[in-house]
Amino acid sequence: MDLSSSIANKGAVVGILENSTEGKDLKMARGHERHHSHHGLSIYGKELIRRCGAHCEMCDAQGVKLHIFEVPPIPTEADLGHCIMICQTCLDQIEHPKKTDPHHWRCLTRSMWSTVPAVKVTALAMLQRISRKEDWATELLEQSYLEPEESEWMEELEL
Ligand SMILES: [Zn+2]
Repeated sequence: MDLSSSIANKGAVVGILENSTEGKDLKMARGHERHHSHHGLSIYGKELIRRCGAHCEMCDAQGVKLHIFEVPPIPTEADLGHCIMICQTCLDQIEHPKKTDPHHWRCLTRSMWSTVPAVKVTALAMLQRISRKEDWATELLEQSYLEPEESEWMEELEL
């Protein structure tokens, strides 16, 4: 019996399995994200936590898990200025328009005035989505004020 060759074979089999699993994960991750966001955004984690005081930057929830969301259009290079820190509920509804619960987004009354442009434009984009069905959202949009560069961003931003 040639032990070394059987070990070598096992190694090869394990290698193939690992490769195929990786391939599957990659596909799943890609299919999952509507926007092709960058990996490794966690380097901004500390800074973002400080900025938002560990509260969701959309709905102000605290004591919940927060996620980094890259506000489209996604820049070629990862950019802290395009990142917001939001809770699972906000993230789910931003990424899945069908799940949008207008009641949850009453929080935009506050976040639409954020001094962080990425938060502000995301809040306004969500108001635009909700205003198709809710008059209160239209009224808030009418009160909004945008700096010129925020207006440009809004024109390219679709949620
Ligand atoms: Zn939230």
